[in-house]
Amino acid sequence: MALDREAAQEMDRKDSLAGFRERFRLRDGLIYLDGNSLGPLQVGVEERVRQCLEEEWGRDLIASWNKAGWYTLPQRLGEKIAPLIGAGPGDVLVTDSTSVNLFKVLAAALSLRPDRRVIVSERSNFPTDLYMVEGLARFAGRDHSLRLVDGPDEIENAIDEDVAVVMLTEVNYRTGWMHDMKAITRRTHESGGLAVWDLAHSAGALPVDLAGADADFAVGCGYKYLNGGPGAPAFLYVAPRFQNSVMQPLSGWFGHADPFAMAPSFEAAPTIHRFLTGTPPVISMVALEASLDIWSDVSLSDVRNKSRALCDLFIELVEERCAGFDLQLVSPRQTERRGSQVCFAHAEAFAIMQALIARDVVGDFRAPDILRFGFAPLYVRHVDVFDAVEHLADILRTGEWDQPQFKARGAVT
Ligand SMILES: *Cc1c(COP(=O)(O)O)cnc(C)c1O
Repeated sequence: MALDREAAQEMDRKDSLAGFRERFRLRDGLIYLDGNSLGPLQVGVEERVRQCLEEEWGRDLIASWNKAGWYTLPQRLGEKIAPLIGAGPGDVLVTDSTSVNLFKVLAAALSLRPDRRVIVSERSNFPTDLYMVEGLARFAGRDHSLRLVDGPDEIENAIDEDVAVVMLTEVNYRTGWMHDMKAITRRTHESGGLAVWDLAHSAGALPVDLAGADADFAVGCGYKYLNGGPGAPAFLYVAPRFQNSVMQPLSGWFGHADPFAMAPSFEAAPTIHRFLTGTPPVISMVALEASLDIWSDVSLSDVRNKSRALCDLFIELVEERCAGFDLQLVSPRQTERRGSQVCFAHAEAFAIMQALIARDVVGDFRAPDILRFGFAPLYVRHVDVFDAVEHLADILRTGEWDQPQFKARGAVT
């Protein structure tokens, strides 16, 4: 028998991260299990954005590029993210979107392996990652191809001497499976390839050690566990050994060695700055910067421990209280191979999720049949896990989901 509500509350009382919840704007009664899609707003971020609007843009206008430090936002934010992903100072930039950053680092990686044509990834990777490879291959002028594996077990065998790049998302967006970054990177290097990691579901959810794994390139997302706001800029990592030599194709003026020399031809910055392209979206950068402050007070091992506890508890409670309703665990049962989310498959997943959302239990649906629940340890409580499962059990028991209003799909699911 899993624990009761009292016991869940007791776990919250002992939780070393409990105090962080009040720094998020979460309305009473809301159980937010979708921080892996869009992290919530933090207290203080509005004020910082308002200051940017009123003083920096509104009053000081163009002077703010220097005076307010707009110009150095990409590297400043990179420095804040670096400790979360095991990167050193000067190894991370915040810029563009995850998709665009992936394009840049993939092209850079391919240029380092000109005699190889194969990019290995997973068929179940987030689609944009695969689409970016397809788009790049179409314009690379050579016959690159994507070699897709159907599961983690197949990766090792897919890596051979033809492989230029292994591109994986460390934590699968759908199943929550967490790859062994170090082992896969080593295997990739042994066969002469390069490893590109997508940290969209890792950064801020669990400790990452890019340097320790000897990763070559990485990208990640600002609006999921980093809570930077809708469409927040993304980040990219380039291993120090490549920073002053590798080229990327989107060679815009912000990546120039001396942008304000306004020279007619491109000369790449001698640092990771060569991975910048154009003017940063300052207001979004400022929102992300303020959102990142919280991490200087957070222990990532506490985050990981709580994340495991929340996910384990959720699985245990669902399997006990929702038994007999055909929910199939899609995420790994082993905690060490699971990120910070839990997914269950059900034929009526879409309607069930809508019914949950109507009760203020917000997770999301991923086609074709997945109920996805993200557990962001900075604001999700053990009691939220308990209550979410009670709602789910009730919806299944009563068939509440089986109503027309829960079956209409919007453009974004
Ligand atoms: C969320 C996510 C993205 C998002 O890419 P955008 O360019 O920000 O739309 C990319 N890859 C993965 C693996 C993701 O989970």
